Amino acid sequence: MKLIRKIIFTALILSLGFATTAIKVVNQVNNSEDLLKVLEKTPVTYCSIKDLARVLSTNVYENSEREKIVLYLGDHRVKISAGTSFILIDDAIYQIPAPAITAHNDIYLPSEAFFNILNNTVLPSTAYNSTDNSLIIMPTAFNIHAIQVEEKVNGTIIRIAAQKKFKKKEMSAFLHDNGWFYLTVQGGTVNADEVVKTDTRGIIKDVSVEELAGGVQLAFYLRSDIERHEFYQNKETDEIVVTLWAPLSKSVARIKEVKSQWEIDTIVLDAGHGGKDPGTIGHNGTKEKTVVLDIVKRVGSLLRKNTNVKVVYTRDEDVFIPLWERAKMANENNGKIFISVHANASRDRSAQGFETFLLRPGKTQDAIEVAALENAAIRYEENRADKYKDLTDEGQILATMAQSMFMKESESLAAQIQIELDKELSSPNRGVKQAGFYVLVGASMPNVLIEVGFLSNPTEEKQLRSAQYRQKIANGIYRALIEFKKSREFVMAEG
Ligand SMILES: [Zn+2]
Repeated sequence: MKLIRKIIFTALILSLGFATTAIKVVNQVNNSEDLLKVLEKTPVTYCSIKDLARVLSTNVYENSEREKIVLYLGDHRVKISAGTSFILIDDAIYQIPAPAITAHNDIYLPSEAFFNILNNTVLPSTAYNSTDNSLIIMPTAFNIHAIQVEEKVNGTIIRIAAQKKFKKKEMSAFLHDNGWFYLTVQGGTVNADEVVKTDTRGIIKDVSVEELAGGVQLAFYLRSDIERHEFYQNKETDEIVVTLWAPLSKSVARIKEVKSQWEIDTIVLDAGHGGKDPGTIGHNGTKEKTVVLDIVKRVGSLLRKNTNVKVVYTRDEDVFIPLWERAKMANENNGKIFISVHANASRDRSAQGFETFLLRPGKTQDAIEVAALENAAIRYEENRADKYKDLTDEGQILATMAQSMFMKESESLAAQIQIELDKELSSPNRGVKQAGFYVLVGASMPNVLIEVGFLSNPTEEKQLRSAQYRQKIANGIYRALIEFKKSREFVMAEG
């Protein structure tokens, strides 16, 4: 009965006899052209399903006995049955104006209606032109691109680059018992090639993409439990930001881990000059190298007596150590603070006071002169041209600085040192200054250089010869280190 009806219908169409010979397929993705078979002598163009499968390179399932063909387009199934005007896409039914026709061991469908349905469902990047019977395959316009995963102390942030403003109701997220976290975006089209390149980290073990009818589902396989999740789309960048909060106990553990990384457990004390390099020498013969070694040792013994901090001396006796080697020693010992202690000199014998320097291009002529004086220590070094050839002027010192990330902390350390020394000493507080000191270059930790006083000033030379005075300086530096350590570890615990 069914078969008879079909034969009659086919015969009717054939007898009307209008036709196009083929549908031209323009593939803009790979810039190729092809022809798609059509039924001859039909009033509307009927296209071959098997040939369409070939043109689209899709998998086909065929049941010739039941006159059924299934096209697999991506994750979608398009079921076509001969003799009916219904096609089934996934679980939805669509109607075409005339039934599918069997011919040449194949099934044919009215092309315009069929392609319009495909365009509205599973093939949004195709367009059918009924005037010249052409099918255009366009590159898919993705509106969701790469995914970035950021691991934070108390959770993980997923950043999804998007190029479309989605409505709130178009996005939904849920965590499944099976360990997958799903984010569904209606109207989303994903560049799966970019998404599979996601650099997974934190609790994200795997990422997968599933195209849904009219949207997309991004799935994230989680390594561990999460406390809760939230997401929003950034109004300016259109980025979709998902936050997965780690359970509280886990984040406490992680905070502890981070804290221990940043804990100030090692302080590197650098006494300027030494050995064949005496540093500056006062009118009464007081040598900078001797004064500063004594101060540094007093600071070190206060730290050892009162804290668990490990103290590293770049030198603990009267030996010569090149400037470049001092920051290297600090790095190798995992120092968390580097302080270099010096005494100053000036042609102006009335100049006096204490100051702390940061490594930055010198702002004032005075600061530049201090740096020039301290940097001159390299004249005692052999093969120095190799070590400092990139550091010939202050601008270049900055360029090679790997330490700008420590600048803020160096600033607060320097400020603290000035505050504490001011409490101990009656000589003038010359403040925090900046200049390019070779000895600080390359120290991967907060670092400062202290000029404790002027050996060129008769009063200060006399004071610096006194053990009591040097102890006062050491007390001030020690307290500044303790205050800095406390404040920094507090900030880390909060962060
Ligand atoms: Zn010096």
